[in-house]
Amino acid sequence: METQGGSGASSPSDTTCCFVCGDPVIPVDTLLQQQRRHKVCRNLACRHILQQESTMPPALFQAQLNFQRQRIREQRTREAEYRQRQSYIERTEAAENKAIADAVFAHEPDQGSRLVVTLPQGANQPERLSSARKDRYKDHLKHILAEATACASIADLPRDQHYDAPEQRKGIDTLLARHPRLAQLCDRLCGQCRGGCCAQGADHAYLSAVSMRRQLDANPELSAERLLDAYLERLPEESMTGACINQTATGCALPRELRSDICNGYFCPELKVLQRAWDKEQQQPHRLLAIQRAHTNWNRFESGDINPVVAVAWVSGDEVQAAAVPPTPGGD
Ligand SMILES: [Zn+2]
Repeated sequence: METQGGSGASSPSDTTCCFVCGDPVIPVDTLLQQQRRHKVCRNLACRHILQQESTMPPALFQAQLNFQRQRIREQRTREAEYRQRQSYIERTEAAENKAIADAVFAHEPDQGSRLVVTLPQGANQPERLSSARKDRYKDHLKHILAEATACASIADLPRDQHYDAPEQRKGIDTLLARHPRLAQLCDRLCGQCRGGCCAQGADHAYLSAVSMRRQLDANPELSAERLLDAYLERLPEESMTGACINQTATGCALPRELRSDICNGYFCPELKVLQRAWDKEQQQPHRLLAIQRAHTNWNRFESGDINPVVAVAWVSGDEVQAAAVPPTPGGD
């Protein structure tokens, strides 16, 4: 069957649809493919499947094409469901947060400016560090140290997220240096969260060949063996279940200088919003209310339902003061 759009759906006459997935093909691509019988979008999978047409028996190609179209349809359904779920959770939690803030502020006599920040929650279940985890961490460290010592300079290493992390970190450090009160607040909020963003550190702690090379370059007297020992010596007896190997009940087991640049420069989206608002609009709330929910920085939409509130706290530069969690309209 010859079809213009993969989905078989009718489309406006001036729009060309991808032969494989049915998405609109942008005009410049339509022009570039003018001579071809079938046009495809920029999706690599769509391009790949069409390339097979000339090398495959027609029946086999049709079977591959049908399989690919089905796969794309299923993927789109999953993505649409995820977006729907995400939107529901965002809307419902935002409404609930507003109700909480209204209830808390109603009892707050101080009329100064106020701001509400929502926070994730780090893992809070410590467990004895297994030898399997220690071995994986040691292997990772050995591997990145070998990569770091095999190159003549840091410029030989791939330009990935680790490579650019120090620049991002410098940007954040500069911003926080301009606003000492904001820096203090961010420290308190991170302390309140207890590592909701550290949860994906697993047994690599975001350490890379780039981190190793930078440390070796900054300390010419330091050997790779000594650096390896510096990391292994600091392994805690217990780390948080399902989180970074260095995440303990009292925070990161590594001193700041041994942590990855990614860790040192990272803030969750909520805190980044706060930092940008503070910096651009000079928005300095008199008091800041943190509403913390039971999800890490990475799994907020996984359960498919709203995440329960685990803590509400007033956060100032100097202290974190718990507030009662008021009953919410949708709550128990
Ligand atoms: Zn396509």
